[in-house]
Amino acid sequence: MTDLLVRNVRVESATTPCDLRVEGGRFAEIGPGLEARRGERVIDHGGRLALPPFIESHVHLDSALTAGQPRYNESGTLFEGIQVWSERKRTLTVEDVKERVRRAVRQQAGFGIQYVRSHVDVTDPELTALRALLELREELRDDVTLQLVAFPQEGIESFPDGRALMRRAAEMGVDAIGAIPHFEFTREYSVSSLDFAVELALEFGLLIDVHCDEIDDEASRGLETLAARAYEAGIGERVTASHTTAMHSYNNAYFIRLLRLLSMSGINFVSNPLVNTHLQGRMDTYPKRRGVTRVKELTEAGLNVSFGQDDIVDPWNPLGTGNLRDVVLNGLYVTQMMGRSEIEQSYRFITHNAARTLHLDDYGIAVGNSANFIVLDAPDWTEALAFDAPVVASYRAGRELVRAKPVRREILF
Ligand SMILES: [Zn+2]
Repeated sequence: MTDLLVRNVRVESATTPCDLRVEGGRFAEIGPGLEARRGERVIDHGGRLALPPFIESHVHLDSALTAGQPRYNESGTLFEGIQVWSERKRTLTVEDVKERVRRAVRQQAGFGIQYVRSHVDVTDPELTALRALLELREELRDDVTLQLVAFPQEGIESFPDGRALMRRAAEMGVDAIGAIPHFEFTREYSVSSLDFAVELALEFGLLIDVHCDEIDDEASRGLETLAARAYEAGIGERVTASHTTAMHSYNNAYFIRLLRLLSMSGINFVSNPLVNTHLQGRMDTYPKRRGVTRVKELTEAGLNVSFGQDDIVDPWNPLGTGNLRDVVLNGLYVTQMMGRSEIEQSYRFITHNAARTLHLDDYGIAVGNSANFIVLDAPDWTEALAFDAPVVASYRAGRELVRAKPVRREILF
C-alpha cells in the first residue's frame, strides 16, 4: 500500500488548512506543513474542506431504482408505495437486486458516502432481497460498509410467519432488527411486535432500528413502547427510532412527558426529511402538516439525531438521488434549524451523529483511525451546502475511491 501525503485541507470546521499523512491505510500524522517523504504520493487539495465520509443512516437499497415498476405511485402516499413495492417484490431475483444495489451504491459513493445502513424487506417467504444484500455486504466491503436491518415491511404480527421470517433473517446474519408498529393491524400487535423485536435483538446481540410511527396519526405511539423497553434493558444507545413522524402531530403536553423517557432511554433517532415531507400530510387539506419529527427539540434535549435519504428512485421517492446534501438542506429548512451555528454543525447529521447511530468505531479524521475521508470543492461546510459543492475526492484506507474534476462555469456577460 502506497503511503500518502494529503496537503492543504481544512478538516471539519478548522479555519486553517493542514496536511494528513497516511501510512498503512491509517492516519499517521495530522498537522500543518508536513514534509514529504521518499516514495510518498503527494496530493494537494488547495485548501478545500475535508470531512469524514458521509454516512447514509437510513435507506432501502432493495427497492432502489425500481420507480415505475410495475407502475408509479401516483397518490404519493406511504401506503400506495407499500402496495406498489409488494407487487414488484414478487418478481425479485438475487441478480436483479444485486445489479440495482451495485448501481445505487456507486451513485452514493460519488456523493461521498462510504457507510450505509440499509433496511431490507423480509416480508418475503424467499428472503430474496436479503440473500442478495448479504452477498453484497461481503463483495463490497473494501469500498463501502453495509449494515443490514431485517425490516418487516408488511408487519411482524400482521404478516404470515412474520416472526419466523425475522428469526431466519437474524440467523442469516443481519446487523440489526427492525419493526413497523404503525403498520400492524392493532395497537396490541404493535406492542407485541416491539417486544418480539427487542427480545430477538437481545438474543442475537444485534442492534435495533424500528420504522416507528411513520404516520400522521397522533395516536400512533410505538415510540413510547420502544423507548421504555430500551430503557429497561439498558440498551438505548443500540436502539434507533426511524421516522417518528407522528411526533410532529403529538400534543405538547404528551411530547414533553415523552421527552423525559426518551432522554432516560438515550435512544437514537433518524429523520428522513426529504421523503417524509413528500409522503406525510397527504390526508390533510389545509393547514397541511410537514410530517417531520421534532429534530430541533430532540437535538436541544441532547438526543442523537441523524438524517437519511430513505429512498432512491423507488415507489416512495421518484427523485431520490442518494445525495445527502439534498437531505440536509431540506432538513434544515423544514425543521427551521437555520441559525448560523445550526447550519455550520449540520454536516454532523450525516457524519458523526450517524456514526453513533450505526455504532461505528474507527470513524473520523484522527491519528490511528482508518484513513477514510472525503474532500469537497469548498472551503467550509456552509459554502459547500449553499453552493452544492461536489465531492472531489473520496479516500478509503488511503485508497482513492472517487476522483472528480470540479466544473468551472464561465458566465459570458
Ligand atoms: Zn424507511
